[in-house]
Parts: sequence; C-alpha cells; structure tokens
Amino acid sequence: MGTVTGQPTQLLIDGALVPGGAGAFPTINPATEEPIGEAADADAADLDRAIAAARTAFDSSDWCRDTELRVHCLRQLRDALNDEIETLREITIAEVGAPRSLTYRGQLQTPVDDLEFPAATADNYPWRVDLGVAAPMGITTARTIVREPLGVVGAITPWNFPHQVTLAKLGPALAAGNTVVLKPAPDTPWCAAEVGRIIAEKTDFPAGVVNIVTASDHRIGARLAEDARVDAVSFTGSTVTGRSVMTAAAQTIKKVFLELGGKSAFIVLDDADLDAACTAAASTVSMHAGQGCALTTRLLVPRERHREALDAVATAMSRVPVGDPSDPKTLCGPLISARQRDRVQSYLELAIAEGGTFHCGGGRPAGLDRGFFIEPTVIAGLTNDARVAREEIFGPVLVVLAHDGAADAARIANDSPYGLSATVFGSDDRAARVASRLRVGTVNVNGGMWYSADVPFGGYKQSGVGREMGLAGFEEYLETKVVATAVRERER
Ligand code: NAD
Repeated sequence: MGTVTGQPTQLLIDGALVPGGAGAFPTINPATEEPIGEAADADAADLDRAIAAARTAFDSSDWCRDTELRVHCLRQLRDALNDEIETLREITIAEVGAPRSLTYRGQLQTPVDDLEFPAATADNYPWRVDLGVAAPMGITTARTIVREPLGVVGAITPWNFPHQVTLAKLGPALAAGNTVVLKPAPDTPWCAAEVGRIIAEKTDFPAGVVNIVTASDHRIGARLAEDARVDAVSFTGSTVTGRSVMTAAAQTIKKVFLELGGKSAFIVLDDADLDAACTAAASTVSMHAGQGCALTTRLLVPRERHREALDAVATAMSRVPVGDPSDPKTLCGPLISARQRDRVQSYLELAIAEGGTFHCGGGRPAGLDRGFFIEPTVIAGLTNDARVAREEIFGPVLVVLAHDGAADAARIANDSPYGLSATVFGSDDRAARVASRLRVGTVNVNGGMWYSADVPFGGYKQSGVGREMGLAGFEEYLETKVVATAVRERER
C-alpha cells in the first residue's frame, strides 16, 4: 500500500499542492503497526498562508455569490471522489483500520454520495425572502431577509470516520458559500490529503476556497480556532478538546459548532425481544472497534432479566468477527493507535478496580499479536455511577446495567454528562414514550436508522453545540441579514 507517487502527500493551500513547512510525518496502519507512508507536516506559516488564502477567496472573489459555480464544484467533487473510490477505499482501510464492509457505507461511499444533499439544497435554497411592505413604528418599509455565508470556516476533524466528518463539513460549508481551512487529525492525514489532491487536480474550485493542512502538531488546530481572520469553527472531536476550542474561539466571538463525545444508552424494555436487542447492542458497540461517537455503550436491561441479558450479549459479542480490516467479514478492526489501545486497556483495568467483572473479552484477542486490537468486552457488576459507565471509552466495550422499568431506564440513560444518541427496544408505543423523555440528539427505536444526508445530527449537553447534516446543518453555515428599505410616498 502506498500513495501513487510513493512521496509524502501534500498540503492544499491557495489552489496548489505543496509540501509541509515542518517536513513530513508517518501515517501508521493500525492493523500492522507499520508506517504506510508519510504526509506533509504543516507549520504555523503554512496555516497562516492557508487562512490568508481562504480570507482572500471569500472577500475578493464571487464564490460567496455564485451559487451555480458552488453547486457545480460540489457535484464535480462527488463524481471525482467516486472515480477514485477504490483507491480511497484501500487508503481508508489501511490508514483508519476501518473494516472494508463499512467503507461501502458510513466510512466512505455514503458521505461521498451525500455531497448531493448540500449541493441540491444550495441550488433550491430561498437565499432572499421578501417579507413585503409594512409600517413598523410608523415607518413604511419594504423588508427582505437575505441569507449569506459566514465567511472563513475552520474545520477541525477526528480520525474515527475521517471521510464522513470531512465531507459533512466541506459539503454544507462550501455549498453555503463559505471558504474553508480544514485541519484533519494527525492519525489519518492521507484520507484528507487525498481529498485535497482530488480537489486540486479534478475540480474547478477556485484557488483558496478549500485549503487542507495536515499536521502532526495539535497546536495547528488550536491556532486555527484562535485566528481572528476565521469567522467560524466547525469542530468534531472529544469533549475535552471541544472545550478548549470553544474557549479559544471566544476571544474573537466566533460562531462555534461542536460535535463531541457520547456515552449513549441502549434501553431494552421488558416487552422487547431480548435476544434481538442483545445481538443488535453487541454488533453496534463492536463496529469499528467501538470508535464511533454515537455508538451505544451502556446496555440497560430489565433487572429481572439481567443475567439472561448478560449471557445473550456476551454470546453475541464473542461471535463478532475481529481482525484484519481488509477482510470483508470483519466488523471489529483495530483501534487507531497504541495510545488509544492503552487508553481503552486502562479503562478495562479501571472496571476491575471499580468492582466490575468481564462477562466476555477484557484483553487482546487471541492470535492477533500485531495491531492495536482489543477484544469485544462486556463489563458487568457495576452501576451507572462507575467511571466506566460515565466516561467515553472509545473501544469495543459495553457496560451492562440493570433498570427497574421504563421510567428508571430513561432516568439512567439521562444520568450522563453526554446527550448524543440512544436506542430503545420495546413495543412501539412504550418505546416511543421512552424516546420522548431522552435528552439526546438522535434516538433509534427498534432498529430504525437516523443517519441520513437529510437528517440533522448532533448532541445535547456536553455532546455538542449545533447540528451537522440536513437542512439544519446547512443553515448553521449561514448568517441572516435584514434589508429594510423605506418606501417613499410617491412609490406607494
Ligand atoms: P480529539 O479531540 O483528540 O482531536 C480532534 C481534532 O482536534 C484533531 O484534529 C486534533 O488534532 C485537534 N486538536 C487537538 N487539540 C486541539 C486544540 N487544543 N485546539 C484545536 N484543535 C485541537 O479527538 P479524536 O481523538 O481525534 O477523536 C475522537 C473523539 O471524537 C471522540 O471523543 C468522539 O466521540 C469524537 N467524535 C464525535 C463525533 C460527533 O459527531 N459527535 C464524531 C466523531 C468523533
């Protein structure tokens, strides 16, 4: 596996593909622990030029007014990504450790195709709404509401679903008429750099509209959030980093969207099919080794069926195909890095220290001596007060808790600093009642799918601010201007 040239990937700044001022840094295959190549390492001067280019493209070109060009460029990008989808797939598997099967859905194909949604939204959007003539405070006035882009958007992304997060930011931000500086996670620079190369080589995006600065140093992201020339920051990542992005952005009163962590609950009511629910919970938390912000990581089961549920979920978890992400059958690949593997391992040790037990898993899978793998693990014997039930672990780790009925289940689900997502299994009307009590951004009832280009996604509480995707996500990237024109006597 390597880039086409065998050279480090490049930055995209002001329309040109350029090397990094800080040289290059390795990108690692998490399934083998081997470097697969190098990426350009941006320094502060590269970031400075990228922000300046985005500023100039916004202030001095017609990009923000030319909806037709924007729709054309986004559709061109979707088609160009599709033309190279097999190369992108192999990079995503090698660099992210993403199971191959997921690259046909949320890891790659779906977000590429979903670029159509912001393109079509921009094409049909009511950019000007005429409110007609009225006489507020006695002054006869024609009123128009105009929607305009925010300006320069700083986009900062994590490594777990790099194409999904990147394209769910670029699509609406660009469709709305903004210019963008994207700072991807240091663990997955190639995924973003390939998007940059394709934009530079295969699309008509004007110079400076999209800039992509891969960097090994997290402080490049911090500088982007602080810079006074940036009008808004769209951040996806951990709640800890989100807090510091919000603090940095506050210095210049930037608009901030935050898509952060979660500790989502999977509620099984006493009238649910317990086996079906446990099987769904097991595959959800094991998918991509549990590295998904909205995956359900607390399984809440009726107290009287707790033992039965533990056995059912442990059986399902122990059957999850773990291993080589390039194998089409794999569901649970490696964690992204040694650091993440050690972090998950330390949570497993904490679970035991807190008095919990493993009902399955708890270590490195047998026969996988290389790669950052952790077994799908079920933790039992704890309550919702335990740290492993409250903190985001970001691994294939499910904490099973007992509840005393629907109201108690909703209470436990809501007893969390997070509010990203939840699942409820039970008879339709009772499950719907529980769903209405949950303080979360998305609820899956009996296996329903909330992820879709036209559906807004985001969190309550410390899971975030704002929404991504859907019309709500598009409108996050817009300002609202009112033009009030006095109507003179003779014009009436
Ligand atoms: P992270 O917070 O460590 O890093 C995210 C990005 O922020 C990276 O690009 C990183 O370089 C950058 N960064 C680090 N320090 C920064 C700073 N001080 N200022 C600005 N940028 C900085 O997150 P991660 O480990 O890459 O990703 C995993 C986290 O992302 C999990 O918590 C997960 O729940 C969350 N996530 C949330 C969503 C969502 O939509 N809610 C989606 C995917 C991932």
